[in-house]
Parts: sequence; C-alpha cells; structure tokens
Amino acid sequence: MAATTQHMPQAPSSALDKSNHVVSQTNITLATELPELKALLSSEAKIILPSHAEYETRISRFSEYKRPTPGAVVCPATEADLAATVKWATSNDIRFLARAGGHGWSMTLSQVGPEGILISLRDMNRITVDLKSGCATLGAGATTGELLKAAQNADAHIVATACDSVGAVPSIMGGGIGNLVSNYGLGSDNIISARLVTATGNVVTTSATENADLFWALRGAGHNFGIPTVLLKLSLNGSTEAAMAAFAPLYALADTYTPNINTGELMPADEINEAKDSLCSEGGNLPRAYRPVHSASLEAVDPEIMGALYERWENFTAQNEGAKQTVVRVNFYDYRRVREIPVEDSAFAWRKNPINVLQYWAYTDESMEQEIQSLGQEFRNALNGAQSPNVVMSFATGDENPSYVYGKGLDRIREVKNKWDPQGVFSYYNSC
Ligand SMILES: Cc1cc2nc3c(=O)[nH]c(=O)nc-3n(C[C@H](O)[C@H](O)[C@H](O)COP(=O)(O)OP(=O)(O)OC[C@H]3O[C@@H](n4cnc5c(N)ncnc54)[C@H](O)[C@@H]3O)c2cc1C
Repeated sequence: MAATTQHMPQAPSSALDKSNHVVSQTNITLATELPELKALLSSEAKIILPSHAEYETRISRFSEYKRPTPGAVVCPATEADLAATVKWATSNDIRFLARAGGHGWSMTLSQVGPEGILISLRDMNRITVDLKSGCATLGAGATTGELLKAAQNADAHIVATACDSVGAVPSIMGGGIGNLVSNYGLGSDNIISARLVTATGNVVTTSATENADLFWALRGAGHNFGIPTVLLKLSLNGSTEAAMAAFAPLYALADTYTPNINTGELMPADEINEAKDSLCSEGGNLPRAYRPVHSASLEAVDPEIMGALYERWENFTAQNEGAKQTVVRVNFYDYRRVREIPVEDSAFAWRKNPINVLQYWAYTDESMEQEIQSLGQEFRNALNGAQSPNVVMSFATGDENPSYVYGKGLDRIREVKNKWDPQGVFSYYNSC
C-alpha cells in the first residue's frame, strides 16, 4: 500500500517541499518558459499576460477574498491543449489552478501567485445532450447555467447546482447539491463516467469498471485528481399531475395560507435557479467584495442557536454599513434519495446531513478581515455545537482539518491521491 501524506493548506507565499504534496516554488521565471508552452498548443489556444485587457476577465471571481494572482492565464481550446499545459506545468514545477466558473471560495486558492498560471477552462464549455442514450457530456469549463440551458433545449432535466454562474463540473464533483436532489440524488451520483487529464498530462477514462478507484474519488473529492470532462445521466421532465400528487399535502394548505402555490406547472430547466441570480452571479449584489465563506453541514438545526445567530447577524449588519450585504443562507434539502446510496459508494462524506448553512460574509473594506474571520468562526462553532464539524468540500473555508471535509473516506482518498497525483499538483482547493 502506498504511504499516505496529508495535503494541508499552507500560507500563500511559502515554498513547500514535496512531502506536503505541494509543488515547490522554483526560480524558473514564467516568462521564459511560456514560449515553450505556446509552441505545444493549438492555434485556438491563448496565453494571456497580466498586461492584456482580457486578463482581468479571465481571472475574475465571485469573491476577492484570497484570490489567486497568476502570472499568466492559459486558455486551452481542446483536451490536447489542456493535457499539454498540465504536462508542461508539472515538468517545469510551475503551480497551476484550473478555473471554470470562478466561484471557488477557499482561502487555499491564493497559494497560486505570480509564479503560477491559471488554466481558464471557459473555452472548453461544449455540452451535448442525447435523449436516446439518456446522457449529457459536459465540457470542463461549462457553467451550471449553460448546462441547464442545454437541458431545456432538449426538453430534459438534469441535476445541477442551484447557481447558474457556478462551474458545472467542479460543483458536481464536490457533490452537486441542487434543486433536483430530492428527485435524483446528488449531482455526483449522476456521473456515469469521466475523461480526466491527470497530473502527468495523460488522459484516462474512469467509470465503475475502468480506473474505479479514481471514479470513486472523483465523486465528492474530484478536484484533487485532475481535470475532467464528464458524462452525466439525464432525467426526463415530469408532469403537472405528478407534481400535484407529490405536493398534495402542501396544496391542501393553499387556501388557508398561500393561495398562489397550487399551479403545479412545469418550470423550464433554465429558469430553476432564477430566484438566486442576484446573490450568485459574479460579484452578486456587491461587486468586487471580499466574501469569505464559513459553512457547516448539519443533520439538524437547533432553533435556539439559529435564533441567537440571527440576532447577532442583525446587530452586526445594522452597525456595519460595509458588511450589510452579508447573507447567512440555510439550504435545507430532502435527502431521502441521497441517503439511499451507501456512503462507501463515493467520496462524498455527508449523506446524513441535509442542511448546509453557508455564511456569505460580504465587505469591501479589507480592514474588516480580522473581525469578519472571527465572526465567521464564531458562527461556525456555534452551528457545529458539541459535534465534530462536517463541511461539504465545495463549501469549505480552507482552514478545516481535512477529516471534517472528507470524513471517514479520507484515508482512501489519500491512497488514490498518492497513486494518481503523488507530487500534489492538484492541491490548491481544499486539498486532502
Ligand atoms: C454563490 C455560490 C453559490 C453556490 N451554490 C452551490 C449550490 O447550489 N450547490 C453546490 O453544490 N455548490 C454550490 N456552490 C459551491 C460551488 O459548487 C463550488 O465553489 C465550486 O467549486 C465552484 O466551481 P467554479 O467553477 O465556479 O469555481 P472555480 O473557482 O473556477 O473552481 C473551483 C475549483 O475547482 C477546480 N476546478 C475548476 N474546474 C475544474 C474542472 N473542470 N475539473 C477539475 N477541477 C476543476 C479548480 O481547482 C478550482 O480551484 C456555490 C458557490 C457560490 C460562490
């Protein structure tokens, strides 16, 4: 059995040795190495330097907090470009970070600085939907909104997360918790297979029967292993009758409480996330804000604790104009389908927890950082209570012990990591 090593988040500026599975910073200057990469790429691929107008658009993020500051952005146009970029970066000891939707929040992302590159996947956003086979293929850089649009055009439904501007592949690999969870389970439960560019720059296929260890790990912890194109199960649209039957107890209350709910009309797939657009889109309701996240994944909420936190939030935002847009979102899903799948079946650890409380702190004055961090930690500790903390990896802050993020599967995830990414080149996003 391969030895396992911890992939702990580290301070951004530190040069780390290989025992931490983080590539050491080198004295090779990026600028001298980039022409070699350019020669390996197709004519459609781009390399964008910070002086170029497109640089800002390519690196822009949902949150300014601990954002990566890459020395260049590489935009592959094809899988071969992507593989060549990863191989080049790995063999030259150059740090890299993939970017799809730019909604990753983790503080560990800032470990990629001017000596590293961002791989912008947005030009690899092709989606195909095939009703006959019941499958959709999802390019590495597509967003959830693009996926839902493609599903709607084909009159299908598909599991996706609840925010259109989030990257579809990374969000699904992290679990993929969205509006159709009660019908079809997690997004990651609907992955049929994936083609993955690995740390060596090779392309491998993973499924239940091929490279099954990687397939297991991809579903819940995938960002640690490579950059995939994913094959997903499609779901067909339901019917008004089925909706009316499923929600009959709720409709029975309609006359008394909410007369507008008893339509049962089908909602187009690409409108399903509309209510959250203002909060989710890049910059959301407060462009260029720092938005550290602090989250807890819970089996149940304690109303007393929630009440006390509500008061605390209300007082703080009333007294601090600069943090007024802070939102504490309680996502409560029906997890019966999620719990039907044994926890050992994939790397997603928290099937017992249908509630995710996400604190989106939002402020524009950097000097508030310390205070906000303390508050976020205080809220997180209160939510977790006496239990050992759990957090879905897509919602992690980056300062958690990896066992809080990956649960009982952590040792197995590390074994897979040691086999497929022993140098730890995929280690800047809530790594194991
Ligand atoms: C406003 C908001 C709403 C959200 N809503 C939900 C929700 O409803 N449900 C849910 O489950 N999650 C949700 N999330 C969490 C989201 O799923 C994760 O943050 C996800 O990782 C973001 O992906 P991205 O492509 O947008 O971000 P990026 O920052 O581009 O990517 C995140 C990380 O994933 C890696 N990565 C990117 N693309 C690939 C790829 N193709 N292959 C491998 N690795 C890749 C990179 O290492 C990157 O650092 C939300 C986040 C935000 C900010």
